[in-house]
Amino acid sequence: MGTAAAALKTRLDALCQQYDTPPALVQDPLSVPLTYATPLDREVAAFVAAHLAYGRVAPMIRAVRAALAPLGSHPADWLRLRTPEEAARELTAGLGAWCWRFHTAPDLVVWLLAWQRLDRESGQGLEPHLMPRLEEATDLPLSRLVQRLRLELPPTYGSRFSLPDPLEGAACKRWRMLLRWLVRSGWPDLGQWTSLSPGSLIIPVDTHVARVSRFIGLTSRATPDGRMASEITAALARLDAADPLRYDFALSHLGILGDCPGMRQRSTCGGCPLYSVCRAGSKSAAPIRR
Ligand code: SF4
Repeated sequence: MGTAAAALKTRLDALCQQYDTPPALVQDPLSVPLTYATPLDREVAAFVAAHLAYGRVAPMIRAVRAALAPLGSHPADWLRLRTPEEAARELTAGLGAWCWRFHTAPDLVVWLLAWQRLDRESGQGLEPHLMPRLEEATDLPLSRLVQRLRLELPPTYGSRFSLPDPLEGAACKRWRMLLRWLVRSGWPDLGQWTSLSPGSLIIPVDTHVARVSRFIGLTSRATPDGRMASEITAALARLDAADPLRYDFALSHLGILGDCPGMRQRSTCGGCPLYSVCRAGSKSAAPIRR
């Protein structure tokens, strides 16, 4: 590892020390799946939490909790013990007027029934559907699942909520987040899917990760798409090939917690560990194009 990479790694490790903390985790949708006791219950909660992970964090987390409330403390068993018709009827009654921004209760019923269907086929939840076959690239199973959901879910579902396919160049932030949660075993993730290696994951690029990654030279791209996600992941893999996404939570929460003003100045950057490697405000760190 060269001197510049070593310096960046030191700074990113310091960032993790600052942000990989329980108070930061409270402001992350992963905090909801973590409250469930068994792996399959955590998977159902993660499937819902990742799908609804857009918009302001605090109300979004409240919406995820309310979305899962009708399924009790064992959502996987709840879904396994009911026919699709029973589950749809009881969920509809239990969710009432629930909504989260663009998602309504009927949308959430459709999403939970999709998990129920996938679990009935595999007998082991979602993991077998996202497991690469021999020599297959990691993104192929995700692409297959997305294409399948586009066909099975109501016609407007995909266009309203975006069921992005990684092979079409999308960043697939929410799918990448779900995979990180379930595959990584390092803090704060669940580490319960063992058929995929943490080294094969791609970073879930949100606005904050895209912005800070540009500031510190992990990417030079302007659009937060699949290519940017791959570029950032490759840069992080040069610092930790076995677990490049160990930096994701800290990079994201520097922004989520409102600690990055987007202009490198001692007076406003506080004690940001990235200060010595940050180019925010210089021409080489132009704004992210949405
Ligand atoms: S702008 Fe300031 S707070 Fe944001 S990454 Fe750069 S040094 Fe850190």
